[in-house]
Amino acid sequence: MSDNVCYVDAYARSIQASVRATEAPAAEGTGALVLLDRTVFYPGGGGQPADRGEIRAPDGRTWKVVGARKAGEEIWHELEPGADAPLAGPAVFISDLDWDRRLRLMRTHTALHALCGVVWRDFGALVTGGNMEPGGGRMDFEFERMSGELVGAIETAVNEELLRERDVRVNVLPREEAFAIPDLIRTRVNLLPEGIERIRTIEIVGLDLQADGGTHVANTREVGTIRVTGYESKGRINKRIRMELTDPQG
Ligand SMILES: [Zn+2]
Repeated sequence: MSDNVCYVDAYARSIQASVRATEAPAAEGTGALVLLDRTVFYPGGGGQPADRGEIRAPDGRTWKVVGARKAGEEIWHELEPGADAPLAGPAVFISDLDWDRRLRLMRTHTALHALCGVVWRDFGALVTGGNMEPGGGRMDFEFERMSGELVGAIETAVNEELLRERDVRVNVLPREEAFAIPDLIRTRVNLLPEGIERIRTIEIVGLDLQADGGTHVANTREVGTIRVTGYESKGRINKRIRMELTDPQG
């Protein structure tokens, strides 16, 4: 199995790697797939989109990576359509993330955890779904009594928590230990596969603890602040909150 660095070190943006295998494009308009022996690319999941970036050969030849996806435990890199994949073998390539985009995703993802943490702590509302792009995202909650007034209070509380400069920790726990943590599985339906032996958790120390597979910043100070950009009713009980980072470069 390849070394999937993104789950251990979210700040690794570039790594040397050899090509283990390639696959022809799966369909018209898609690119060839490349499996490296180690990678910094995140394959997408949990509402966080897959990374983009490039693979470079020692001679300077460059392949654009337009996405990544997981097949079993392996992360495959999708090249731009039309590009011939590099040959498998011992040659050493550099795989390199679009770091600006990834860091924005890490900040956005961490902000969404802070939002979940506040909504759970203050209102006991469970998450039913979520999604993000670099710089903004949405979370859906079972939150019958949500209102504009409450959403304003939530925005204030989230920003207070982010500005407390809370550390964000990644842990990998044996299944029994993880399930002994109250409220760890915050989604309405327990999405963790039956057979999974070890569970990765993300903790915003003092605010939020969740089972999670994505990439996050190491301290909430790196997020800055957020603004709530909208909220809507998706039914009597299901409510959606949209937010974005308040960065000027949006
Ligand atoms: Zn997360």
